[in-house]
Amino acid sequence: MLSPSLLVFDFDGVIVDGMNEYWWSARRACLRLHPAIDLPESTPPQFRQLRPWIHHGWEMVLIAALISEQCGPLEQLGVQEFVHDYAAYCTAALKRFSWTPALLQQALEAVRADAVRTDRDAWLALHQPYPGVPERLNAFSEENMAWAVLTTKARDFTAELLASMGLKPERLDGHESGSKPEVLRRLACDWTLSGFVEDRRPTLETVRATPGLESLPCWLVSWGYLRPADFTDLSGAIRLLRPEQFAAPLADWP
Ligand SMILES: [Mg+2]
Repeated sequence: MLSPSLLVFDFDGVIVDGMNEYWWSARRACLRLHPAIDLPESTPPQFRQLRPWIHHGWEMVLIAALISEQCGPLEQLGVQEFVHDYAAYCTAALKRFSWTPALLQQALEAVRADAVRTDRDAWLALHQPYPGVPERLNAFSEENMAWAVLTTKARDFTAELLASMGLKPERLDGHESGSKPEVLRRLACDWTLSGFVEDRRPTLETVRATPGLESLPCWLVSWGYLRPADFTDLSGAIRLLRPEQFAAPLADWP
């Protein structure tokens, strides 16, 4: 019997714009670990500019700490130079602060758990679904297409947000499930995967380079947290998806 079809979506930068929440949570998590530092309440421009390079939640806490550092690499180099060696500067900063990714991830999730418990509505309101996206996702049922969410966010917080937007994916996997290529390979055992929709080009490139996923259709959404160079020289394997194309039936996507 043919396995049913499943279209898989990343969450942040594809379904939801959570920029205000990222800073809100990252700032608080950073202050829990480092109470003496000074961080603005409103989202700093460097944080917005760096968001396309951020892969995991814990990096946002580290970036907040880097923004607070006077004479640190971010202040000295500026964002343009910093991103040339983003991973190396993050590794050096972890060492300088004596932090680990696990510690930062725990701090971030503790802040979010407190926010959900104490003022759930205010926390939810920090997130904005991209215009038309919830409606389009709900319309996939008319195309007999099941859809899933695969995110590096924690599963529980993503579930809260999806429910608040009236969205019910067939499956939801968070960072607890493993890396995105690992999860996609597992999903491919039970489903015919119709594609993966992401806003992080390196993730799509890794997916396409993963044995078993070489022919998975991959779309890079134009409305997410993209680096300027992400739009250029896309290989034929990864196709740019603009809002008007996303709104069309799946069979008509580029
Ligand atoms: Mg994303």
